[in-house]
Amino acid sequence: MTRLCLSALTFSFAIASQSLAQGVALNDDSMGAKPPEGATYLFSDSLSNWVKKGSDTPATWPVQDRILTVKGGDIQTRPRYGDFQMHVEFNIPYMPDKTGQARGNSGVYLGGIYELQVLDSYGLKLQDNDCGAIYKQIIPSVNACKPPLQWQTYDITLHSAKVKEGKTQKARLTVVQNGVKIIDDKEISPTPGGVDGVKEGDKGPILLQDHGNAVQYRNIWIKPLD
Ligand code: MG
Repeated sequence: MTRLCLSALTFSFAIASQSLAQGVALNDDSMGAKPPEGATYLFSDSLSNWVKKGSDTPATWPVQDRILTVKGGDIQTRPRYGDFQMHVEFNIPYMPDKTGQARGNSGVYLGGIYELQVLDSYGLKLQDNDCGAIYKQIIPSVNACKPPLQWQTYDITLHSAKVKEGKTQKARLTVVQNGVKIIDDKEISPTPGGVDGVKEGDKGPILLQDHGNAVQYRNIWIKPLD
């Protein structure tokens, strides 16, 4: 009996220490979330909403069991968006022989011009190019990353830039990763590598980056807010 209790205690501790591994309590409350009223799937089980970057050619990344795997160049949505709420689930491959930007790199370009980084950054002191960063611009306030090979969530709210009489009011972004707010209503500027021809204040597509690593995505939906 004592041994059984001890095992249960050890198991509970293992679970707790996993979710608190980096000093922050993660949760999967939005994992598998269905699109709310007014939202549409960008990816559920087909790539019908997607084309190869900068083209009208249908996207060809492999799809299996409602999972999309990065392969064959960046892809972008046909529809374009201004202000929106968006949900994305992603899974980073285990690449122990790689480090830094070569380890599970992809990215979600919001409005075609702002890269929300996807990378294996588990356990790291985050820099401005790690997972959850707006690339080379905003360091996430906490490390809410899971280890590779686990599904993670991004819940994103973007208020696009507004350009009036030659003045630009910057876009504002909030990101919740694995139930933890990592970017809280911050101003952002365009990052390198986005969709050509999209400027601040324009509506833009969502782009998924092929950085040569087999990152996976599933359950991607978006709700326009404008
Ligand atoms: Mg990237």
